[in-house]
Amino acid sequence: MAGRTDRTTDPHLRASLLLARRGQAYFSRKLNELRNDELDAPSLVPGWTRRHVVAHVGLNARALTRLTEWAATGVETPMYASREARDAEIELGATQPARALRHLSAHAAVHLNVEWRDLTDDAWGAQVRTGHGRVVPASETVWMRTREVWVHAVDLDNGGSYRDFPAELVDALLAEVVCAWHARPDGVAVPVLEPTDRSVLLGHPAPPADAGPAPRVRGRAADLARWATGRGGAGLLTTSDGSPVPPPPRWL
Ligand code: ZN
Repeated sequence: MAGRTDRTTDPHLRASLLLARRGQAYFSRKLNELRNDELDAPSLVPGWTRRHVVAHVGLNARALTRLTEWAATGVETPMYASREARDAEIELGATQPARALRHLSAHAAVHLNVEWRDLTDDAWGAQVRTGHGRVVPASETVWMRTREVWVHAVDLDNGGSYRDFPAELVDALLAEVVCAWHARPDGVAVPVLEPTDRSVLLGHPAPPADAGPAPRVRGRAADLARWATGRGGAGLLTTSDGSPVPPPPRWL
């Protein structure tokens, strides 16, 4: 039988789990505010309706549950059979009746949470492989889920905002995106981010000369995170020379 509290006693992991659970509650709240017929409307993800977002977030919980089961049992169970299988599952999932879609969202989230609660510290450290092929400890599933639930809650496009995000989440998203930009093999000019409500600059203050001029983008940290993760920045952000904010380099 599943315990009611987390088995791990690691304070850092427990804090991470709390952030993921707050994100799940935020996503569920935004979803519950939508009537069934409103699910057919477009989301902020290009080419996806809200239905696609809900199906994807539910199926993501199932995929991460497979990774936690892998960590717990040692039996390899990948997130998805393939990228194509993942995409096909989302397309099919999005066509379900609204009631089934809501059930998927709620049930998959509960199942993942139960798996997390029951993982031992040893299992949290077990190596698993993400859909992108990265080998990570099972504890990484918590951040992977955190990112999904908070950002896709905004993608539902019914009032969710990065400005609702806890500061620690905004900072973690910015750090991840900047890190991903730096890791790009094509040497993109990494934008310099100037959060007006933080005391640090993010990005690369001195880009390599051959990378072209790096834009400097200024605004609230939450708005910068929104722009950097590809959810737009018009009207909220300015560059240092006052020109329109360019699209960000690709992140994922
Ligand atoms: Zn996603």
